[in-house]
Amino acid sequence: MMRLERQAQALLARSYYQDSAQPWERGPALAGTVQADVCIVGGGLAGLSAALELARAGMKTVLLEAQQVGWGASGRNGGQALAGYASEMEPFERQLGHEAARQAWAMSLEALDLMRTRIREHRIACDWTDGALTLAVRPAKARALRAWHEHMQADYDAAHLRWLDEAQTRAQVQSERYVAGVFDPLGGHVHPLNYTLGIARAARAAGVQIFEGTEAVQVQPAADAGGGKARVRTVQREVQGAAEGEVRAHFVLLAGNVHLGRVAPALARRIMPVGTYIIATEALGAERAAALIPSRACVSDSQFVLDYYRLSADHRLLFGGRVSYSTVSPPDLPATMRRSMLRVFPQLHDVRVTHAWGGFVDITMNRAPDFGRLAPDVLYLQGFSGHGLALTGLAGQLAAEAIRGQAQRFDLFARLRHRPFPGGDLLRTPLLVLAMAWYRLRDWL
Ligand SMILES: Cc1cc2nc3c(=O)[nH]c(=O)nc-3n(C[C@H](O)[C@H](O)[C@H](O)COP(=O)(O)OP(=O)(O)OC[C@H]3O[C@@H](n4cnc5c(N)ncnc54)[C@H](O)[C@@H]3O)c2cc1C
Repeated sequence: MMRLERQAQALLARSYYQDSAQPWERGPALAGTVQADVCIVGGGLAGLSAALELARAGMKTVLLEAQQVGWGASGRNGGQALAGYASEMEPFERQLGHEAARQAWAMSLEALDLMRTRIREHRIACDWTDGALTLAVRPAKARALRAWHEHMQADYDAAHLRWLDEAQTRAQVQSERYVAGVFDPLGGHVHPLNYTLGIARAARAAGVQIFEGTEAVQVQPAADAGGGKARVRTVQREVQGAAEGEVRAHFVLLAGNVHLGRVAPALARRIMPVGTYIIATEALGAERAAALIPSRACVSDSQFVLDYYRLSADHRLLFGGRVSYSTVSPPDLPATMRRSMLRVFPQLHDVRVTHAWGGFVDITMNRAPDFGRLAPDVLYLQGFSGHGLALTGLAGQLAAEAIRGQAQRFDLFARLRHRPFPGGDLLRTPLLVLAMAWYRLRDWL
């Protein structure tokens, strides 16, 4: 965890979301030993969602967060709630067969439903806005997008996905960069930090004990820990001399994104930490913002190294893109990102950038999510591969179902096989940098 943090200072710069966040009453750091039914490691959306479900089912649930709730990807992402998976459906179809793939697709739609329901039920003020666009930047990409659209209609009953020709695409986004697109009315976007804090508040209200500034440093399943329960040892991050604590629980759920190297090296080998970045412009005013994206849908393109952007409730453009596969942030991040934005919207040349920040996503080799068990009483959720805003909510619910003895839906994902990245701890990043250079090149073909 420390190494990633040190290498990524620019990545973790103050975000627009932090500057527009609702207040959150920070939880205490853990000292001493607490007993629980379930101990969750990680206060992002995956961990918080599971915690909420478990507490509502009457289980004593403790959640440990090394920094503060929403500090990770969940509080700093592009805010785009999208159906499907970063991998598309191919790994599901190839490994699990057509019927299981169809179930997985249906669950990704359920994830969007769950998000809408929770926002309503817990009255989370996070600016939910309907609609998501995927756009193609050249004819070859348009043909690939069209083939995907037809496949989803034919094999997944996705009649709601609407094809847009060039003129229809231009009516959606005021940019000459795109030649075609697909509109998904079920997708949408939110202020991700306010959404995450809203889920955290709901979890706390349901009885979850949230400890912040508390890092899990060792996890032992019951079989190794003695005494019939799993053991999670912790340290307080902000205390000199590292005050220690311990949680004893019947189940542990690991939901720490890219930061679990110390407690679960076997998991860390199956994901690659990848940096991705966002800038926020100054407020554009309602009229100028509406001219850019009249429907206010969120937008991403279908490039391998994609641009993704949307309007905020206060009429800024939040523009994301660029990835760094080396965990080192690109120099002069705001200027680089601004150039990418002007490639799409040259008309914004006079607009000031007020914030630039980034975060880490946990990419798997095949880009499909990686859920499973390290031991019968230690479960994990990882590998959202940059496509986790909606899916983390459902993933938390599936983990909670599995802990409560209903594991069929969790196990559909757990059956997906994942290979570790080649090259071990030292070489996997340089190898990925090479692989990504190849994929970037393919974007231009
Ligand atoms: C810049 C950016 C843009 C993105 N855009 C989108 C988007 O538009 N749409 C989309 O669907 N997805 C997007 N994503 C991905 C999405 O944000 C993630 O998939 C999702 O938030 C992952 O949630 P999580 O709970 O697994 O991890 P996180 O939110 O990262 O939470 C993990 C938490 O665990 C804590 N932790 C880790 N280890 C320990 C430990 N040992 N002890 C205690 N605590 C620990 C960390 O401090 C962290 O707070 C984006 C991600 C980034 C970074």
